[in-house]
Amino acid sequence: MAAWSNWSASVQAAPRKIARPETLQALQRRVVEADKVRVAGAGHSFMPLCETDGLLLDLSALEGDIEVAPDRKTAWAPAGWSLKRLTRALWDLGLSLPNQGDVNPQALAGALATGTHGTGRDLGSLSTFAHAYRLVLADGSAVEVDRGRDPELFEAQRLALGLLGVVTAARIDVLPAFKLEERIVKRPLAEVMETFDALAASHRHVEFFVFPYADQAILKTLHPIEAEDTPRPAKPSNEEAIFQALCDLGARAPVLIPSLQRIMTRAASPQHRIGPAWRVFPSERNVRFEEMEYEVPRAAGLEALKAVTDWIRRRRLPVAFPFEFRWCAGDDIWLSPFNRGPGASVSMHQYAPMPWRELFAEAEAIFRDHGGRPHWAKRHTLSRAEVDALYPAAERFRAQRRRVDPSGKFLNGHLAALFE
Ligand SMILES: Cc1cc2nc3c(=O)[nH]c(=O)nc-3n(C[C@H](O)[C@H](O)[C@H](O)COP(=O)(O)OP(=O)(O)OC[C@H]3O[C@@H](n4cnc5c(N)ncnc54)[C@H](O)[C@@H]3O)c2cc1C
Repeated sequence: MAAWSNWSASVQAAPRKIARPETLQALQRRVVEADKVRVAGAGHSFMPLCETDGLLLDLSALEGDIEVAPDRKTAWAPAGWSLKRLTRALWDLGLSLPNQGDVNPQALAGALATGTHGTGRDLGSLSTFAHAYRLVLADGSAVEVDRGRDPELFEAQRLALGLLGVVTAARIDVLPAFKLEERIVKRPLAEVMETFDALAASHRHVEFFVFPYADQAILKTLHPIEAEDTPRPAKPSNEEAIFQALCDLGARAPVLIPSLQRIMTRAASPQHRIGPAWRVFPSERNVRFEEMEYEVPRAAGLEALKAVTDWIRRRRLPVAFPFEFRWCAGDDIWLSPFNRGPGASVSMHQYAPMPWRELFAEAEAIFRDHGGRPHWAKRHTLSRAEVDALYPAAERFRAQRRRVDPSGKFLNGHLAALFE
């Protein structure tokens, strides 16, 4: 038995074995020999997606390299590389990813498997960037799927939670390398909410963070720029250490949380930097939290955020972390929460050592009232019947899963309840 835990430590698993194959043949052999298999990327999912008592695969050492298409618009990329390794290597080839989320330790395949997204009025999730997949199926065969070759399997694979096979590479969109200018400023929440549409129209990426008990929001914009890089700070900022200390204080004395949040917001300093996109997209996230996130139709996004934060204030609930509000473009992926059109994404976080389960469950009801569907990697309590009600293509997805994995090799308890 081995031990495995996710980033937030809320999922503790005991796989029979963790294997790190280096060749395709070794990977195929492992898949054929095992009864139960899951693949883990960086373990950044909050849901028990990687949980297994069978074989847990780690693809970070698998052979393979980036292969750029002659038109330089797409590239095959190794599935087990972290986004950090991938985006740095793309930069050296004169390329960037069109968009990224908040952090970059995730494996490429891990990010694609759950619809990981950043923010941007017209930018889809990372899953929308993938146009072809190389997979090792449950019977050990290696296949390549795209819109022309086994199109049903490709459509299912576009957001598949690791249920259809082991991804070894994906052909993804790339852009000529670009730099970004990041600005982080404090603004009254009411003003940010009133002007968010205009802000999103004038910046390629815009989002804001707000503590439930604060009236000021932290507004972050990223915009492509051609300019000199700003110097990198000589010593790391101590903001995270202060945040950690205040979270600990709030956990011990929840009654102080509203005042602590006002102090933290008041103390937040403006930030400005320019640098390569791969370096500016991600932020540091060292204070551990648990997270849920709902994607709601864009027009209902700000109302949903307001409804949840009003509920927290009204009930004086101990929520120590800020909310994050982003936009993501619509898509046509069967299991994507953005497949009904442009969406707004509202993330609710809780400091990891503090209770979150009941708070999140109650907040889900509010998000659902606003037409929300959860991020698959973040805490949710959807039942199979709810999946069917929210996703008309769910059974079509299951049919592909049954076709390529009839014995349920890639299922675990959580996923079997929803997709067997
Ligand atoms: C600090 C932090 C910040 C985050 N920021 C964002 C954000 O900005 N935007 C956002 O949308 N999400 C965000 N997330 C969520 C995160 O992007 C997703 O959970 C993502 O799936 C994690 O990638 P991973 O490599 O850690 O995958 P894991 O959590 O390890 O796995 C996720 C899924 O991918 C599958 N998988 C992984 N590799 C393969 C493979 N080779 N073949 C088949 N299946 C595979 C796994 O089986 C599992 O089902 C964040 C999470 C954390 C902890």
